[in-house]
Amino acid sequence: MKIKLSLFLILLSFATITTSCVSVQVKENTISAIPAEVKKPKNIILLIGDGMGLSQVSTAIYYKDGKPNFERFHTIGLSKTSSASDLITDSAAGATVFSTGAKTYNGAIAVDMDTIPRPTIVEQLSKRGLATGIIATSSLQHATPASFYAHVKSRSMYEDITAFAPNSGVNFFAGGGLKFFNKRKDGKDLLMEMKAKGYEVITDQLPKIPSESNEIILLAQDGMPKMTEGRGDFLPNATKLALEKLSKNEKGFFLMVEGSQIDWGGHNNDSEYLIQELLDFDKTLGVALDFAKQNGETLIIVTADHETGGYTLASDGKDYNKIKPSFSTNGHSGTMVPVFTEGPGASLFNGIFESNEIYSKMMMLFDK
Ligand code: MG
Ligand code: ZN
Repeated sequence: MKIKLSLFLILLSFATITTSCVSVQVKENTISAIPAEVKKPKNIILLIGDGMGLSQVSTAIYYKDGKPNFERFHTIGLSKTSSASDLITDSAAGATVFSTGAKTYNGAIAVDMDTIPRPTIVEQLSKRGLATGIIATSSLQHATPASFYAHVKSRSMYEDITAFAPNSGVNFFAGGGLKFFNKRKDGKDLLMEMKAKGYEVITDQLPKIPSESNEIILLAQDGMPKMTEGRGDFLPNATKLALEKLSKNEKGFFLMVEGSQIDWGGHNNDSEYLIQELLDFDKTLGVALDFAKQNGETLIIVTADHETGGYTLASDGKDYNKIKPSFSTNGHSGTMVPVFTEGPGASLFNGIFESNEIYSKMMMLFDK
């Protein structure tokens, strides 16, 4: 018995070693072309819950009054989130993989392993005449939104990131980050530059109707307030506004919406913060799903860049009728994250795949 146990322990330690030596292997895409029977969408809405693993999603089941919008999706996949530099990705590499298809190093904003800029989905579609929009509850310079319109070698270069906005071609921006436009170390006023490039600049409140021109809505100096501190319906309402505007484009549109602060609740190991952010994101899904249902030509993709907090909805070990949310890290974790899709093309997102496939499938679906 003792021998068996020590053998078991040796095997176990071997398994631990091999696990810690695992390297990141990015496989070829599982498909190289869209099967003929798959209907292509005209529009795609990509909703990213930063740091949103399955436990985070599950809070919608336990803490929402009524049925979560997550349950309205019929196709569910799992995404493998490792970056090219690390088993556990950060949000910069985690967004760059969606915006450019490149698995890159942690900290990279739409550049590859050699810091060479890669064209983003937003830039490519904008060139083809489609409408584009970016919404976040962080600043617009934060890693996730930045990766869709800027190219810098490090995520902390907020002022450099901002300088990409005037020439980005993005038709609709909404989020925080005002101070990086007009309280800069270089003294420049990039709001003036935005206006010179034809943007309407809005800094007081979310308008009721979209602008006739391109618009940038900046409602906080840095990140938007937390839900628990009164952000209200900014995210669902900005999404509604963007959809009203972008859907006027006859060629179609691409809209990225980020629930940025689900991740911040995880980093803070603050379950209430996380849950309120998740419920706000779920409400936003409702807006997107209602639009898509009526529109009929829109694919909705909901996923995460990674999980944050090693979050669990555990029992205390005694009372199985009580959930005691807990965290195992104040950083990110390496678990796979869910991918929910609905609409034309959704079937492509079934199964288990690398995070970079989300980009390649979106681009293939936009190819006419
Ligand atoms: Mg983010
Ligand atoms: Zn994070």
